Amino acid sequence: MATAMLVDVSRCIGCRACQVACKEWNLRHAERTQNQGSYENPPDLSAQTWTRVAFIEEAVGDEVKWQFRRVLCQHCTDAACEQVCPPKAISHRLSTAVVIDAEKCTGCKYCISACPFDVPRYNVQTNTVEKCTLCVDRISNGQIPACAKVCAPEAVMFGERSIMVAIAKMRLGKLKKRGFKDAGLYGEKELGGLGVMFLLTSSPSFYGFPEKPTVPLSVNIWQDVFKPMIAVAGGGAGLAALVSLLGSTGYKGSQRGQGSQRSQGDEGSRGDKGKKQSE
Ligand code: SF4
Ligand code: SF4
Ligand code: SF4
Repeated sequence: MATAMLVDVSRCIGCRACQVACKEWNLRHAERTQNQGSYENPPDLSAQTWTRVAFIEEAVGDEVKWQFRRVLCQHCTDAACEQVCPPKAISHRLSTAVVIDAEKCTGCKYCISACPFDVPRYNVQTNTVEKCTLCVDRISNGQIPACAKVCAPEAVMFGERSIMVAIAKMRLGKLKKRGFKDAGLYGEKELGGLGVMFLLTSSPSFYGFPEKPTVPLSVNIWQDVFKPMIAVAGGGAGLAALVSLLGSTGYKGSQRGQGSQRSQGDEGSRGDKGKKQSE
């Protein structure tokens, strides 16, 4: 059965219970951050922060209004990260979840460069890349993801994909009637269908999403030309080739939401280098 998560930004109240639940379920520890002049915290994803709530400030007359938008892996059907991973450490599970196998990940970071949503983060302690798993350990046991479980206003829902799409379209109709003329469902068709769809009250770019996400051309070239060469020649030359290729195609690797900066602990300076651990 195809499943999906639906995030309805019109219902999100910015309580960040989803952030906390994700850390608690996945045993991610807290990180020291600095005040950025906003209530948004932490300011970016990291190996310890697999989801966060972006606070987008909008000037309306003399007032400032907040719009909230969760940031997490989109679990793309057409997943660039999966396509580019040399040791095939990234795979689809239960048809929807895109999961990194820490035992197979070599820390090459190709997936970080390839992701159109700027999601995966390097963990220097374990020399692996990490991200949201869609709580595959929970959904394989008949439970919904931890972040969906705790969301009181039902801004986050999880279930059969066709039902999530139907709920989104029903809510979209109501939003349009309330005057949100730019409201739309993001992820129904993008990249073959996203495992995490968003019901947005404004344009995708307002919320920090690429309007038309694509697998970078460089990934296709990588798949067809460089990856077979690397299998023969070794990884270091391959990384140099990919980074050069991504640069030459204009890919910047970042469409993140407003106010975001890479947080401490990302590409981190903590000790325990090179040891693989699941924390
Ligand atoms: S738990 Fe729900 S309402 Fe609270 S911040 Fe997360 S998505 Fe928004
Ligand atoms: S959002 Fe990025 S990391 Fe997540 S599945 Fe898509 S390409 Fe991979
Ligand atoms: S699905 Fe699970 S791993 Fe992904 S953000 Fe939600 S709680 Fe975290």
